[in-house]
Amino acid sequence: MNNVRSRALFSDAQRLIPGGVNSPVRSFGGVGGQPVFIARGQGARIWDVDGNEYIDYVCSWGPLILGHAHPDVVAAVKEAAERGTSFGAPTEGEVELAKLITQAVPSMEMVRLVNSGTEAAMSAIRAARAFTGRSKIVKFAGCYHGHADGLLVKAGSGAATHGVPTSAGVPAAYAAETLVAEYNDLESVEALFRAYPREIAAVLVEPVAGNMGVVPPREGFLEGLRRLTSDSGSLLVFDEVITGFRVAYGGAQALYGVAADITCLGKIIGGGLPVGAYGGRGDIMQVVAPLGPMYQAGTLSGNPLAVSAGIACLRALQRPGIYAELEARATQLEEGLRAAAKRAERPVSINRVGSMLTGFFGVDSVAGWTDASRADTRAYARFFHAMLERGVYFAPSQFEAAFVSLAHTEADIEQTVEKARAALR
Ligand SMILES: *Cc1c(COP(=O)(O)O)cnc(C)c1O
Repeated sequence: MNNVRSRALFSDAQRLIPGGVNSPVRSFGGVGGQPVFIARGQGARIWDVDGNEYIDYVCSWGPLILGHAHPDVVAAVKEAAERGTSFGAPTEGEVELAKLITQAVPSMEMVRLVNSGTEAAMSAIRAARAFTGRSKIVKFAGCYHGHADGLLVKAGSGAATHGVPTSAGVPAAYAAETLVAEYNDLESVEALFRAYPREIAAVLVEPVAGNMGVVPPREGFLEGLRRLTSDSGSLLVFDEVITGFRVAYGGAQALYGVAADITCLGKIIGGGLPVGAYGGRGDIMQVVAPLGPMYQAGTLSGNPLAVSAGIACLRALQRPGIYAELEARATQLEEGLRAAAKRAERPVSINRVGSMLTGFFGVDSVAGWTDASRADTRAYARFFHAMLERGVYFAPSQFEAAFVSLAHTEADIEQTVEKARAALR
């Protein structure tokens, strides 16, 4: 594989940008080696600056459910750009996108647009605190909600009471307001409610975990969180930045039939441009300025380009049969990879919900971070590089999802599985 230009660019980038990248996982730190620089994408494929072609299962980490450079999205962005890229004043598109979102996710009676998933989660927490007058929040080990200070906390050890900051630069006092429970373990959440009665503003969860690799909620887990939060006057916040419009048009709450008080969205609702959103019950969203006392703002929030891309993307997803199509393609990939692993006598445990899936190497099953963290990351890294060499771009980390888009054809998946057979040998 020729990667002369990627290597030259990465060497320049490392002098100018910390680690040579604008988001850490892009650096290939999780798998070793050097990242390839991408020049363009079309449908399910991307090409790097040296001309190598890949079938892409990263899809910008989730947003590109229609594939790269979808004609509807490209046309919408071009048209919007010609009308002016930003006004800092209300525009019609914002109302349209808010309608599409609130119709798709009925628990979101009102919605505020922001610029990223990070902002959405950060603002959702602020709203939950403002509404309840409480300060502590519960999150789950292995769940990621963007990089706001108080959310960069995961379980240090089993007895998770006071959070231990995962990132340097997060004051211990912030982290102490974040309590960490085990995903799929209701008892660990009940214990926190017992230990901190009337102090917990919200439980924040990825209803399908995607940031420790894909981990589906156990039966009764989300319902249990719904009950525990309602019983104790705290709010249930679903971080559906990945799952929104991904696992179903109405997100995980439509799939599992559990409504959140506040929902965070991002990724797909921007069609590949920077967007996030948070919204929920009308009485809760009344705390947000200018209606209420909770401040949150943004110069580029509701940006016309991003909003047009989002609208085009959501409209395309309204075509009947889309989610069945995605499910069929992703099932084909899951079954193909499982058969390839079995044939090579390699233990790989595959979790899939809709069109997001992860193969965890060297473990039997994964129900939470404790299981996920036992995965054989070196075996994954070898698989990743063997696939990259063969023209398939999976995520450069064991703890991420592979995303199947509507642009992936049966033949693309077949090719991917054939290559996986060779790579696993
Ligand atoms: C990607 C992601 C975020 C952060 O979104 P950004 O746009 O990267 O800030 C938050 N929560 C979840 C579940 C995510 O997957």
